[in-house]
Parts: sequence; C-alpha cells; structure tokens
Amino acid sequence: MERVFSGIQPTGTLHLGNYFGALKKWVELQETCGSVLYSIVDLHSITLPQDPKILHRNILEVTACLLACGINPQKSILFQQSKVSQHAELAWVLGCMTTMARLGHLPQFKEKSASVKDIPLGIFVYPVLQSADILVYKATKVPVGEDQLQHLQLAQHLAKLFNSKYGKLFPHPKALINDDCTARLRSLRDPTKKMSKSEPDPKSRIDLTDSEEVILEKVKKAVTDFESAVTWDPKNRPGVSNLIAIHCGMTGKTPEEIVQDAQGLDTGKYKLVVADAINKVLQPIREETMRLLKDPPFLEQILEDGSMKASSIAEDTWESVRKLVGLSS
Ligand code: ATP
Ligand code: MG
Repeated sequence: MERVFSGIQPTGTLHLGNYFGALKKWVELQETCGSVLYSIVDLHSITLPQDPKILHRNILEVTACLLACGINPQKSILFQQSKVSQHAELAWVLGCMTTMARLGHLPQFKEKSASVKDIPLGIFVYPVLQSADILVYKATKVPVGEDQLQHLQLAQHLAKLFNSKYGKLFPHPKALINDDCTARLRSLRDPTKKMSKSEPDPKSRIDLTDSEEVILEKVKKAVTDFESAVTWDPKNRPGVSNLIAIHCGMTGKTPEEIVQDAQGLDTGKYKLVVADAINKVLQPIREETMRLLKDPPFLEQILEDGSMKASSIAEDTWESVRKLVGLSS
C-alpha cells in the first residue's frame, strides 16, 4: 500500500519555498493517495532555541496556514509530532544503528551548527528522528524540497539496514521532489542561500501571510545584479532567476515563457509584475489563515484528532520493532 508522509517545522511563518517545495504537492497527494500523513514536527524545531510561548503560537499558526493552503483533515492525517511518542522511541533504535561519521557529513548539520557556539546534540542527530518520522508510518512516498534529499537517503539507508539486520519491516521511502525550478527557492537577500523560516532577516523570504504592501516591499528589495534585462540564468544571475522561478510557480508558466512576456521590462519594472502575481495567489491563503487563527480551540482539536489517528499506525510499527529487535517476545 502506498503511504505518504511529510513534515514541516513550526520555526516560523510558512514561506513561498515551503509552499512550492512541499505544500502544493501535499495538497495534490491527498487527492490521489489513500493514506496521507502530514506532521508539524515540533521536536525538530527545538534543535535550535525556541521561546516556549512563541513556539506554541507557531504550532497553531502553521496548522492554520496548512489548512488555508488546502490540507483537508478529512483526507489527510494532520498532527503534531510530539503527541506521538513512537517517533522519539524509534529514533533511539535507529540512532543505535547510525554512525557519527554518516551524520557529520550531512550538509544541514554543517549549515545550522555554523551559527551556534556550543552545538546541541539535537542538531547532530535530528536526521535520525526524521528517518523515524518516515519509517514509523512505513511511508513509501515523501514529498520534500530539494534541500531534504540527503536526509531522505539516510532514511532509505536505515530502512534497508534495519530490514537486513532484524527482518523485513520497512518499505523503501521514495523522495518526491518537484522537477521544476521551484524545488529550491532562494533567499531574496542572498540568492546563494535557500529561503528559510529560521533565517533572522524577514526580508529574505515571502511569508504566506504577508500583506500586499509587504510583498511589494520585499520583492523591490530583492537582491539582483547590475544587468537590467530579465533573463533566465540561475548559475550566473541567481537573484533575477529566483524571481523568475517564483513567478513560474505563481503562474504555471515556464522560465522561457516568463522571459518572453517580460521582454522590454527592466528588473525594476519586472519586480512589480512579480509582486502582483505573488499577491494574487497569496491573498486567499492569507485571509483564510487569519480567519482560522481566531479559533485556537478548533486548531487544537484538529491536531488532537490527527494525533490519535497517527498514534494507532505508529503503535503497530513500534510493536513490530520491539519484537524484531528483541525488546519484547
Ligand atoms: P528552517 O529554516 O527552520 O529549517 P525551512 O524553511 O527550511 O525552515 P522546513 O520546515 O525545514 O522549512 O521544511 C519544510 C519543507 O519545505 C521541506 O520539505 C523542505 O524541503 C521545504 N523547503 C524549505 N525551504 C525550501 C525552499 N527554499 N525551497 C523549496 N522547498 C523548501
Ligand atoms: Mg529546513
């Protein structure tokens, strides 16, 4: 049986990178796949310091935003990771099978630990928790942005290793990554980096709840280069190409079509067109998120119901793991 699993961290407001790299696919998959789980992975978010009051608010905000983007709790199991204890339990078993050398090579460890003086153990081991998130549901399809590919490879490796060591339990979790130019949107302030929720400068990203004025301001300030023509050249012109990629996501057009339409515009004028296209797509999402956020008990209930459903699947897998590993008879 095909099963979809994916997660998102409550580290801040969702942005366009999350939308195109993950959420759009999430919504499509709930229509075509019978068993779909999406998790707000709060245990991952505390690998870097979080203010407790803001964290809880973020969990509800992400829930509201996911619903506003079209996640339907009747079709998808939407839940909070820390409410299902088997994620952490399976992570321990998998952690006992992972080497320090393998984890040390993962690029996000290097990137995220670069900003902290004393590196918390959580940043080092969180890809193992991510593998447990996927395997505890025996997921077969994992829709993620391009930045997660190496973490997915770890989950694939651990599934195989577990199966060969203890007996066949886990199917192969396949990464589903967009094959268009939106698989990795870049920071508006530094197009050598990816757009991220946890990047301190809010001008580096477009949040899904940004107002029309804020969108315009951020797009106008987006770093481009000294050439004024609008051309598609991700390698040599990453700034303007990132705007084209965003514009493609908004309109469904290819970069070539966008460049053709933009002939005669300089990058300054082109930015106004991009901002307008972004606002058209984000306006209904923004309004629906704001409406849902007025009812926190409703959002809490959705997460509670989802966690109950997720737990019943995770408990089954965990029981099998315990038997195979020899923790129970
Ligand atoms: P953080 O900075 O806290 O890691 P994030 O913006 O990277 O936050 P995550 O919650 O880590 O977001 O990732 C959620 C999903 O969004 C993942 O599938 C990830 O691959 C995808 N994603 C994140 N950033 C981008 C991006 N810039 N372009 C495309 N997809 C992205
Ligand atoms: Mg991330």
